[in-house]
Amino acid sequence: MDHSIQDWISERVDRELARPTRIHPLPELGKYKVFIKREDELSSGISGSKLRKYASLLPFLRERSAQEVALIGGPNSNNLLGLAQALREIGVRAWFFVREPGDRQLRGNSLLLDMLADPSSFKRIERSQWENVLDKARDFVEERKRAGRRIFLVPEGAAMFESLAGSLTLAQDVLRNERESGIRFRNLFVDSGTGMSAMGLILGLAALDPPSSRRRVYITLIAGDEGRFAETMEDYQRRLVQEIDSPRPKLPQIAFLEPPIAPAFGSVNESLFAATREVARTEGLLMDPVYSVKHYMSMRETVSMLPANEASLFIYNGSSLGLAGFQDRLVGQRMQAK
Ligand SMILES: *Cc1c(COP(=O)(O)O)cnc(C)c1O
Repeated sequence: MDHSIQDWISERVDRELARPTRIHPLPELGKYKVFIKREDELSSGISGSKLRKYASLLPFLRERSAQEVALIGGPNSNNLLGLAQALREIGVRAWFFVREPGDRQLRGNSLLLDMLADPSSFKRIERSQWENVLDKARDFVEERKRAGRRIFLVPEGAAMFESLAGSLTLAQDVLRNERESGIRFRNLFVDSGTGMSAMGLILGLAALDPPSSRRRVYITLIAGDEGRFAETMEDYQRRLVQEIDSPRPKLPQIAFLEPPIAPAFGSVNESLFAATREVARTEGLLMDPVYSVKHYMSMRETVSMLPANEASLFIYNGSSLGLAGFQDRLVGQRMQAK
């Protein structure tokens, strides 16, 4: 069984994209035996968890000779930004179904996306129409198909079964880190938007390392909720077990964490910027506030309560690029602190 899931992943994944990443102790939280996995180092312009998804999504699109892709996302989406780069590289035209921003000023990801994409490729969706975005994108895809184009729809966060093989490489690489370091991580901390990356970790550990049923995976819910997460993971697990024709492995224990600061998705406040500065100074890490600093703060609350002999791994999926939209706020925070 172990062998066939390895093969299933290998047949679908471009290993040049899903490369190994290192781990090291966190300078400040090392006292709690917390290590960090540097998924941010996978790419300078694409957040790490996204590149793992693309490691199987892009080969899928290439194999189907895709000419165009319709993408859905918010104005600051890391996924739109990542795919704008990755699809250009393989010569696939992207259409962006983007939610109209609350703040019209271009900054951070919305500015970077504006630099990457042709203005004619944007399909701007009013906030009041956002609930219909999937229907609109589907209609558009059908229209392009009738015009003879080979076009695919990629939902928000590239959360689709074709991204799962890539996401499973996170579990493979954690197991490699463990083999090479001789450390076994009892607790793993991962952040979740659509949940795809966290599911790749959980399903991968379960299938590749059965004693993982004794591990705990802590999921910081940056977006979404527990019910949705459980439902989606059940669906992916069923399809995966069918495809590799193996018994269903026992999963690690799962606990959900709510960020202690600005828990609503996309929201920011002064405490979050203060925490962003604190993480920079104490850990030497320039983390994106919206995912990674919230994730770090929920992990920090939790590790101080864990048994002292247990090692923990913090998965840093983000990218320092996520700081770009908040420069004024971070300057403001400095004034306040002094
Ligand atoms: C997109 C993203 C996530 C969420 O990934 P999902 O697979 O959608 O759960 C987490 N962290 C960062 C930094 C991201 O960019």
